[in-house]
Amino acid sequence: RKLGYAIVGLGGYADVILPRFAECRASRLTALVSGSPEKARRYAARYGVPEKNLYDYRSFDAIKDNPDIDIVYVILPNGLHHEFTLRAAAAGKHVMCEKPMANTAAEAQEMVAACRAAGRKLMIGYRSRFEATNREAIRIVRAGEIGAARVVAAEHGFDIRPNQWRLDRALAGGGSMMDIGIYSLQAARYLTGEEPVLVSAVDTTDRTDPRFAQVEDTVLFQLRFPSGATANCVSAYSSHHNRYRVTGSKGWIEAEPATAYEGNRLRLNQDWRTRDHPAPPTALNQFSAQLDHLSECVMSGDEPIVSGEEGLRDMRIIEAIYTSAREGRAVALSVA
Ligand code: NAD
Repeated sequence: RKLGYAIVGLGGYADVILPRFAECRASRLTALVSGSPEKARRYAARYGVPEKNLYDYRSFDAIKDNPDIDIVYVILPNGLHHEFTLRAAAAGKHVMCEKPMANTAAEAQEMVAACRAAGRKLMIGYRSRFEATNREAIRIVRAGEIGAARVVAAEHGFDIRPNQWRLDRALAGGGSMMDIGIYSLQAARYLTGEEPVLVSAVDTTDRTDPRFAQVEDTVLFQLRFPSGATANCVSAYSSHHNRYRVTGSKGWIEAEPATAYEGNRLRLNQDWRTRDHPAPPTALNQFSAQLDHLSECVMSGDEPIVSGEEGLRDMRIIEAIYTSAREGRAVALSVA
């Protein structure tokens, strides 16, 4: 059986997700939620969604009476994730929520609690965990094929165009760290398989740049893990980065691009020799696999590998990164 998804927000990333239902084995698109009735009808015609399953942000709560909808996928600006996740859970639906899961850890905690109280699953849209290259990099590191992981370098960033919600604190929650630096943070955590115990960060934002009146541009942050491994990370809104490298006692694995929509590539260094390392193909592209993972978890009762709790861990670490940068000191984290 295929579970039915309602997509909330028909912006740029929804355009990436919507065509991917065609390849899903356990998920189908059944409903759309948009502020624009004209846009909703246009998308409905394109993707075969019936008129009765179109909602706007006010009529959204009526999804509770629609058995075609099992899961709500929130693809709105970050500042709206909390509200729509709570409303979806109150309507008795499971939730897929885009990253970052909320503006603050406190909001993220409420989202986890609300879905738990409603007996519904909450998953965060960390697509890289379903992507072939990232899965292979994780396998290589965890299998010890580069020895013990010692130093991770992870860099993510792009040169942001002005005048958009990502630069508005209320809608974005923060700057590059919330939007793109979170990929560096995720990579450091999923590659090592460890939780950081100490965070230090420097914010180098040029506040005379009008884009960064409300949110940060570049943050350099370091994470220390219990094994002694460290991560050196970049998050940027004024320079282009998409790569990571894990260096171990016997070699290294590098991905560049690392977390792109497609075309990610690995290089592996072992015995002082470096070669391209094509990842074994996965059955599904990362987007369809992500959609199906939540459907399968709903049917089996398993917790998603990128649950709300996983998103909450990132939110807590991001807040520690902001605290460290603001106060100019390392911040200790308790391993939750
Ligand atoms: P976008 O600006 O392209 O689309 C946002 C949509 O929300 C638009 O359709 C807009 O009309 C709607 N919206 C509703 N209320 C709004 C309001 N008050 N202000 C502004 N827009 C409003 O953004 P996007 O790139 O699609 O990002 C949406 C979410 O998806 C974000 O949380 C972002 O971090 C996430 N995202 C994830 C990935 C990924 O690879 N996982 C990639 C891009 C974006």
